[in-house]
Amino acid sequence: MFLTITSTSEAAESPATDLGYLLHKHPDRAQKFGLPVGTAHVFYPRADETTCTAALLLEVDPIALVRGRGPKPAEGFSLAQYVNDRPYAASSMLAVALGKVFRTAVAGRCDARPELPSKPLNLQIHVPALPCRGGADVARRMFAPLGWDVQLTPVPLDPELGWGDSRYLDVRLTGQVRLHEALSQLYVLLPVLDDAKHYWVSPDEVDKLIRAGEGWLAAHPERTLIVERYLRHRRRLVDDASERFASLEDEALADEDGELPEDVVEPTDEVPGSDITVSAGVAVAVGGEEGLGGAVALEPVVSLAVRRLGAVAETLRASGAQSVADLGCGEGKLLKELLADPRYQRLLGVDVSHRSLTIAARRLRLEQLPERTAERIELRQSSLVYADPELTGFDAAVLMEVIEHLDLSRLPALAANVFGTARPGQVLVTTPNVEYNARYGLAEGEIRHADHRFEWNREQFQEWATGVATKYGYTVRFKAIGDEDPQAGPPTQMAVFALETPEVAR
Ligand code: SAH
Repeated sequence: MFLTITSTSEAAESPATDLGYLLHKHPDRAQKFGLPVGTAHVFYPRADETTCTAALLLEVDPIALVRGRGPKPAEGFSLAQYVNDRPYAASSMLAVALGKVFRTAVAGRCDARPELPSKPLNLQIHVPALPCRGGADVARRMFAPLGWDVQLTPVPLDPELGWGDSRYLDVRLTGQVRLHEALSQLYVLLPVLDDAKHYWVSPDEVDKLIRAGEGWLAAHPERTLIVERYLRHRRRLVDDASERFASLEDEALADEDGELPEDVVEPTDEVPGSDITVSAGVAVAVGGEEGLGGAVALEPVVSLAVRRLGAVAETLRASGAQSVADLGCGEGKLLKELLADPRYQRLLGVDVSHRSLTIAARRLRLEQLPERTAERIELRQSSLVYADPELTGFDAAVLMEVIEHLDLSRLPALAANVFGTARPGQVLVTTPNVEYNARYGLAEGEIRHADHRFEWNREQFQEWATGVATKYGYTVRFKAIGDEDPQAGPPTQMAVFALETPEVAR
């Protein structure tokens, strides 16, 4: 398994051998790295001012693969475990080797020459045997949108015997690309093209994918296919990654003009004669197990999320609240909208997830806010099932799509904390209406997200809300969010609680 990276340069002030700095591997030395799957070698077949080629060779040890760490491919003995194409074909293992051996280069860091990583280089990547499910067409769709000139030659099975082409391609990519982007793209796309990842896909693969995909994957036209294959069609991980990419997209769009663009803020177009709501270009396609082959349903994830946000913001405005605690604020979408409105003098985002709060802080640009704006908002890591005195004194609190993430047995503790201890004047709670799930093509009993501990129908939600209201001295009314179905009701349901005898808070 083998690939080469060649940089060429005509300019004396930036010799091709700069590649050695960027890769953190000296062109005069051949180096060896032990990996769980075998040994990686890095050497330079050529290194001069005009042309510099670095080669990464991975010697796979098939015995180590079977005996070593990682997943056990199958029970018992199978010849295929020992005799397979792994030693020869570029695949996820080469990607792993690349990620390990060139870790700093993939991250785009070069301490010796900090200015280098941001410079595009004249690069040629050569992968002589890339296994590719779907053939040359898929490989081209992956690389061409990234600005590569793509040359693909099918590798014949046996040139002498005329058996035709194998599933391998000889791939040559040429382009003016930053090295770290080129490496990140290979890191993600080699296993995607092979489509036979050889180790367990753990949840932190999503983080790796998001990191490696920075700057190129969010806007890639084949993003859905890439994400699905990379995560081996594991629905929950794929959903998680898709949502996070969608929010990165929101951010990128917002970064461009300082605001969320209209097609994201406004209610979206209905597709005439169908149940599907598509929000321009951002609806997430959800495939079956195979993603591509199976029936593809469009789930209006984004548009419903946007409408929910609009409904909550509208209800808050109408309530006259000037201080709001967003409980389970997640990645801060609601907070961002509220912060833009000067009527809100005090905002608090609470979440148990550190990762979500980090994303929220970035979305809100907390670091760069002018002092007067920054003073209006605070993020706090805390669990809602424990009484937290910091939550007192707010005009309103929001629990948007949060309760269904808690075990049913924890809801009384949440209610005691929010309605008993914090006691804001208004509480807005939204949650999915499970009756609507059939409209998404979900089978009876199937829930919308693997993370949901429960999904309630309207009666169940109203019973819970009425009970809480009675116990803690609130009134409650219910609102529908999204397009109502005559039988199933709306996709999202909201309860709006108001303190019966507003107390003098603070
Ligand atoms: N309100 C946000 C996020 C909804 S996802 C939105 O609508 O976009 C549910 C959020 O609840 C997640 O961010 C999760 O971390 C948070 N959460 C789950 N259990 C929690 C708990 N016990 N305390 C605080 N936050 C919790």
